[in-house]
Amino acid sequence: MIVAERKPIEQIEAMIEGFDRILIVGCGTCVAVCMAGGEKEVELLAAELRMKGKLEGRNRTIDEITVTRQCDKEYLDALEKYADDYDIILSTACGAGVQLLAERYDEKIVLPALNTLFSGVAEGAGQWTQRCMACEDCILDQTGGICPMTICAKNLLNGPCGGTDHGKCEVDGEKDCAWTLIYNRMKKLGRLDYLKKIQPPKDYSVMTKPGRYTHEAFKEAQQEE
Ligand code: SF4
Ligand code: SF4
Repeated sequence: MIVAERKPIEQIEAMIEGFDRILIVGCGTCVAVCMAGGEKEVELLAAELRMKGKLEGRNRTIDEITVTRQCDKEYLDALEKYADDYDIILSTACGAGVQLLAERYDEKIVLPALNTLFSGVAEGAGQWTQRCMACEDCILDQTGGICPMTICAKNLLNGPCGGTDHGKCEVDGEKDCAWTLIYNRMKKLGRLDYLKKIQPPKDYSVMTKPGRYTHEAFKEAQQEE
């Protein structure tokens, strides 16, 4: 899932300065799970901005709505009947959701209320860690399901650096060395032989940005259009 956190209220206030009619649009998927931009967080943000506005004597309207997913066009249609009534839209989606919203309502100012952090997993209550950097060429089959691109501080693909120290990372002594983790997992799986294979450097020349992907089942239909 995508993990994000809300921007400080002062930063949000600075972005919306001068606008009187504001629609806050939440997203009910990843950012709801990480408690940054779902329905509840939108309610809280709207209440905070309303209260601040009142205390400062501002006369502004702040309304809210949360869609199922902001990164999916079909869910943005739900905003059609509201968008024109507002000066700006303040989105509490990840960066992808904000961009799709800005594209869909391209005559409207769409602002981000969150900072998108990473793609990761839940570790415990209120805690997430990054697990993937979307390198477009997954090698988890050869590293025991542990991503060296993400877990190793130096993104090393072929074993540890010289600084690895009794299983700890030289960059952050609190963290386990990714390559110790990989070695131990592969040993446990009886697959240490895989570590003898040299991983070629990632070919950044083919990683065109922005990344694009069309599912096989839809390619033919697209070509016919
Ligand atoms: S190797 Fe790591 S960064 Fe690349 S796709 Fe797999 S998990 Fe993601
Ligand atoms: S000590 Fe291990 S995790 Fe840290 S940078 Fe070196 S190889 Fe990567």
